[in-house]
Amino acid sequence: MQNHDIELTEIVKDMAKTLGACNVGITTNETLKDWHFTTNLDYILEGAKSAITFAVPFGEDDLNGNIDKYLSKINHKDLEKQKVRATTLANGIALEISGLINQIGYDAEPVHSNFVYRKESPPEYRVPPLSHKFLAVRGGIGHMGYSGLIITKEYGSSIALASVVTTAKLKATKSLAEIDNYCDKCKLCLTVCLADYMIDEEDVEEVDTDTYIASKKAHPMRCGYVCTGSTGYKGGKWSTWSAARFKIPEDDSELIEIYQKKAIPAQFERNLKNGIEGGFFHPFYPGYKIEYTCSLCQFVCHPQKEVRKERYKKLVNSGVIIEENGKRLAVTTNEADEIFEKMPIEKKKLYTD
Ligand code: SF4
Ligand code: SF4
Repeated sequence: MQNHDIELTEIVKDMAKTLGACNVGITTNETLKDWHFTTNLDYILEGAKSAITFAVPFGEDDLNGNIDKYLSKINHKDLEKQKVRATTLANGIALEISGLINQIGYDAEPVHSNFVYRKESPPEYRVPPLSHKFLAVRGGIGHMGYSGLIITKEYGSSIALASVVTTAKLKATKSLAEIDNYCDKCKLCLTVCLADYMIDEEDVEEVDTDTYIASKKAHPMRCGYVCTGSTGYKGGKWSTWSAARFKIPEDDSELIEIYQKKAIPAQFERNLKNGIEGGFFHPFYPGYKIEYTCSLCQFVCHPQKEVRKERYKKLVNSGVIIEENGKRLAVTTNEADEIFEKMPIEKKKLYTD
């Protein structure tokens, strides 16, 4: 490797951090070892030799405090906004780095942080052009959590990832030692998932001499259904930030049918009626504007086990969301049930099947 390439490696790492990333990793065709079809750099850019992947934290301003308020159902918007802004910043950094690399003589393509999918794959599988997560763990940005999310010792899994793929031959960074992975398989990320998207069985990936372990995953539509507010309650004492309570069946095809035929149209009508501040924009939802109402697997995770337990306690004592005059309020299960019982049928259809 020429000095020039080593220098460029240091420049792009510094650039990502200067512009707002907390961690940066470089992977190459050699270190990716044909791991998975979503780590194929050629799919993004023919002749690509390296990728720069980076993590942007969901803001520095009282992130832990805002996570507590989100989980306690005191404030939804502040944390949601931090997550959305981090994603937008990650996309911006990718664009700026690819611009610089292009200008100095190599080809480079920015890869969106999220919400862009392979057009040749069925939309319900939400297959990304490139797995930022696999590149991140391979390049040492963080460890693989049992959730399947990348976890970092500074921000847990509250990070947005994006990448730049380039024909420049950059110097790869190393995967982190597994002994330093704080994930102790507490499984709180699985416990808080109303969608049962995570299956409590190990998915073991071996790449070169490294082993990455995450939980197996069910159909991606399970997360899609709950994550963006089409539903958010499954009985019990707490809900997500969604006021909808469409069933979450065990059978995937039944779930997809309720999701697509009832829950999404009802959600669109609610948004028309109540307005939607948002959020972010997603290609597969009517009207495109949507909100995060769950992300609980991401927010419950923290490097310290005691903090995770406290977060979980906050969530299970936070109550159930109902919507009145376009405003979301947390009430007890009994109060929510009474409100639903008295609700006119036409309104009720917007929230439940
Ligand atoms: S919540 Fe627990 S099991 Fe899940 S990724 Fe975090 S530490 Fe691991
Ligand atoms: S965002 Fe919510 S629904 Fe999706 S996997 Fe995480 S906890 Fe489950």
